[in-house]
Amino acid sequence: PAVIVAIDGPSGTGKSSTSKAVAAQLGLSYLDTGAQYRAITCWMVENGIDVADPAAVAAAAAKPEIVSGTDPAAPAITVDGRDVAQAIRTPEVTSKVSAVSAVPEVRSLITGLQRSIAASAAGGIVVEGRDIGTTVLPGADLKIFLTASPEARAARRSGELKGSDVQATREALIKRDTADSSRKTSPLAKADDAVEVDTTELTLQQVIECVVTLVEE
Ligand code: C5P
Repeated sequence: PAVIVAIDGPSGTGKSSTSKAVAAQLGLSYLDTGAQYRAITCWMVENGIDVADPAAVAAAAAKPEIVSGTDPAAPAITVDGRDVAQAIRTPEVTSKVSAVSAVPEVRSLITGLQRSIAASAAGGIVVEGRDIGTTVLPGADLKIFLTASPEARAARRSGELKGSDVQATREALIKRDTADSSRKTSPLAKADDAVEVDTTELTLQQVIECVVTLVEE
């Protein structure tokens, strides 16, 4: 039967790198749910929707068509047919995504997309996000919750962004995680039956091996 792996946790824990590598090693599909929330946010920004106005965001939520690829070697995301893989990673989108993803209408639409993608992944799938084990796929075969110290998370993010200020990155990261953890609808949370892996002192390779071992058990 198709194995479903849910990997949740805050940003900077190595979630995406780990999820892609585990999917590739095990021949599973891969879904980056953060990219979907970023894509809808990108569309809102480009279409002049005030992301601080939940009613405006809710009213527009169904307008963009978001399509996610599930190949871990080449994760793809399009909005209305346009490749937005780069556009969704700008600091503006990153700073606005928590507000957009807190809107219940946005979450129910994106959650529906996620469930249908997982259901149609015949060979199994690794789905990464914030609420996968708790809300999107509560029946997942394996749930992982990745954590790391704030310092380690900020350092990893700064490394990715190259040359950016670690202190500013740390503050932006904490702000986003606080917003994601405190929203009313499906906050960032560890499922009761998730395996928690603290990645602070681990290399990416060690985290990947740990998760692969858990899937194979
Ligand atoms: O994982 P990534 O940093 O790309 O996620 C971007 C944002 O998308 C998160 O900060 C969060 O606001 C939102 N998100 C979410 N639920 C998910 C995945 C991401 O609310 N399952």
